[in-house]
Amino acid sequence: MTLIAQRLQTIRSALPAGVTLVAVSKTYGAEQVQEAYDAGQRDFGENRVQELETKAHILPADCRWHLIGHLQSNKVRFIAPYVHLIHSVDSLALLKEISKQAVKCGRTIDCLLQMHIALEETKYGMNEDELFGLLHVCAGAPLPNVRIRGLMGMATFTDDQVRIRQEFVALKNCFTRAKNKYFAHDSDFDQLSMGMSSDWQIAVEEGSTLVRIGSSIFGTR
Ligand SMILES: *Cc1c(COP(=O)(O)O)cnc(C)c1O
Repeated sequence: MTLIAQRLQTIRSALPAGVTLVAVSKTYGAEQVQEAYDAGQRDFGENRVQELETKAHILPADCRWHLIGHLQSNKVRFIAPYVHLIHSVDSLALLKEISKQAVKCGRTIDCLLQMHIALEETKYGMNEDELFGLLHVCAGAPLPNVRIRGLMGMATFTDDQVRIRQEFVALKNCFTRAKNKYFAHDSDFDQLSMGMSSDWQIAVEEGSTLVRIGSSIFGTR
């Protein structure tokens, strides 16, 4: 068994049923992604459209590609025909563009709304007011061919486990408020993307349904 296969197995065996492992393959070569694929992994995350495109063309067609990094509106059209889930929607303008491109492709695109939960200024994402503003608009005038499946967030890059947990709890609470207010009768709003190599155990304890793990599978970048 390869090292990548071993690491995948270790992580998978620790994940509760209902939590999806997204193997974050950014910066790693297609051979390593193939190795994970051969070990049964199908969900892969990339943070750049160009790199996602390149790997999606090389890897087998049944891979499910997740866009987890910032997405510019003018790049949506490249991934719209096949992307599995976009984790990083943080504006109504972007959601509208995804809707437009999804209509053109004749498919529905699943999206998560990215929340800013960390202390760092540089990370993308919305605050709760912005989230509820967006959801309010979408509730009044639903966008065709996009499905808002839940929320995504990245905790502060810190050793302070208490802080990380607080941020995940805050994100889960925000998810619950959004669900109760806008998706009470919609079982499609059911995904919470949180947790990376350094903090996925805490994220799972606090209700994550999608963990995005790169270096713990593929090695240090
Ligand atoms: C790179 C990245 C990850 C994975 O990070 P690791 O520390 O390698 O597990 C998860 N989420 C996002 C948004 C990323 O950009």
